[in-house]
Amino acid sequence: MSLDVKTLFMVTIYVEAILGLLLLFVWVQNTAIRAVAWWGFAHLIRAASIVLFGTYGAAPDLISIDLANALLFTSFAVTWTGARLFDGRPAEPVYLVTGAVLWLLVCRLPVLAEAVEVRALIATAIITAYTWLTAYEFWRGRSEALVSRWPAIFMLFAHGSLFLLRTPLVAVLPFSVTDGVYGSVWLTVLSFEALLFTISIAFILLAMAKERTELRHRTAAMVDPLTGIANRRSFMQDAAHLAKRHAGSPRPTAVLLIDLDHFKSINDRFGHALGDRTLEIFALAARHSVRSTDLLGRLGGEEFAAVLADTTREKAVAVAERIRASFAQAALEVDNHPVGATVSIGLVHCQDTVLDVHELLAQADQALYCAKENGRNRVEIASLDMILKRKADHDAALAASAEPAAVKSAAA
Ligand code: GH3
Ligand code: MG
Ligand code: MG
Repeated sequence: MSLDVKTLFMVTIYVEAILGLLLLFVWVQNTAIRAVAWWGFAHLIRAASIVLFGTYGAAPDLISIDLANALLFTSFAVTWTGARLFDGRPAEPVYLVTGAVLWLLVCRLPVLAEAVEVRALIATAIITAYTWLTAYEFWRGRSEALVSRWPAIFMLFAHGSLFLLRTPLVAVLPFSVTDGVYGSVWLTVLSFEALLFTISIAFILLAMAKERTELRHRTAAMVDPLTGIANRRSFMQDAAHLAKRHAGSPRPTAVLLIDLDHFKSINDRFGHALGDRTLEIFALAARHSVRSTDLLGRLGGEEFAAVLADTTREKAVAVAERIRASFAQAALEVDNHPVGATVSIGLVHCQDTVLDVHELLAQADQALYCAKENGRNRVEIASLDMILKRKADHDAALAASAEPAAVKSAAA
């Protein structure tokens, strides 16, 4: 079979560009695996470099060929960086362009201007170095996301070795030869490369499937299965992160503690299943009443909490009222039963103190207690009196627990 070099160039460009776009498409489906985007770009850059080779290959335009080579090396450096990112190692921008810059510098050596074989050798060495480096990254990688590292290591090592083999071939078969021999060599290289990268895509897809399963497991551990909102553990973790973020510059924050009214009697009258439905309805109403940046969680049973960050006292009260009113409306009738469930809400707002979620929840609990005392189905705001009383109770409890120890030490 005989194919002219131009056709082979065109086929290569298409294969590389399609692979690149395919990988970017895969990445859009799951942007968490950034390596896929890097590999997509690597193929696209490769396609661009081959366009340059194809356009200027026949002309003695060294600058364009240098540029094409520089682009080609960059694409392999990008592949290598993708392998690092796959394992969560940082990208190395310094090394990313080293090959390309080295090449451009080397090409300016007058002695190399005419020495096609030496240039081919250096070019091949750079590409082989990058592919072997990528194989090495996979070898030392710890990526849990990759089902098995060994096929990837083998493929990349083979890829680099193949490039090394190309050097003697290019030396024997000059670039300008367009007969069948050169064509089949090029076609073999091309199909091998396409095969390697098709397999690499299969691996990325496998990796993503595994990552998704892991994500599902992680999510399952953090989400309350009944209501779909954060469970206590996840809510407290998120609140702690928020507090850490705001530690340097405290922001106005509100904490809401919410408890369903007479829920025991709802369970008794309508059954546990309808009680569960009522909890789901509450979670939905609450979710619609807060911003996506606010924290909402089910602390346990029929008790919920929310943290509204960067909010004024007035806005926080409005949100709490919205939660209360929308739930009361939604739970008037649940699955054709006149449930008429309501909630009581305790609210505490802090202006510029460092966020201590445990303390704020305790204060909100005092306010919630007042809301229950004052007739339920209402929002109560933690007053200064409540906070001072809580502090006094706390201090008294501390003193009481310290007393026996003091007595003991006095006796001794
Ligand atoms: P109050 O207005 O004072 O809060 O009265 P209450 O009846 O709601 O009292 P309490 O908070 O003590 O009752 C909580 C009830 O919530 C007891 C328990 O049976 C019920 N409960 C807790 N978790 C669940 C759940 O997951 N599903 C259902 N259906 N009921 C639950
Ligand atoms: Mg309760
Ligand atoms: Mg209750």
